[in-house]
Amino acid sequence: MIRKGMKLYSILFGACPKCHQESMYVEKNPYKLTDVIKIHDHCSHCNTRYRMEPSFFYGSMYVSYGVGIAFAVVAFIVSFVILESSLMAAFVAIIVTLIAFMPIIMRLSRNIWINLFMSYDKELASKIKKKEND
Ligand SMILES: [Zn+2]
Repeated sequence: MIRKGMKLYSILFGACPKCHQESMYVEKNPYKLTDVIKIHDHCSHCNTRYRMEPSFFYGSMYVSYGVGIAFAVVAFIVSFVILESSLMAAFVAIIVTLIAFMPIIMRLSRNIWINLFMSYDKELASKIKKKEND
C-alpha cells in the first residue's frame, strides 16, 4: 500500500525525500535518544543534501506542534471516549503519550518538514537504479 515513490513513504520511514533509497537517519531506532535527530549530511545514493541551509530543521518545530496535537487527540479519544476514563486520567494519558512518542514525533516532524521542500524524483531514482545494476 505504502511504497517507494509516495511522499508518505519518505514521511513514515524517514527515507531520502528525493530517491527513497535510504534512511536519512544515522540510527535506525528512534529510541536511541542520543541519536534521535542525527542525520546524514547527504544521501549516498543521489547526493541530496538533507540540510539545505544551516539550521534548516528548526522549522520542523512548527510541524511538531501539529503532530503533537494529533497524537494528543488520539490519546484523548482512546482514553476518554473509548476507555471511558475520567477527564483527569485522559489528561495524564495525553502527557504520557506525548512523552513516550517524543522521538517518533520529532522524526515525523522532520520528515514532513523536509518533504515540504523536496519531492520524489522519479527520473533520478531510476537513474540510480540503472547505475547500481550496471
Ligand atoms: Zn537520495
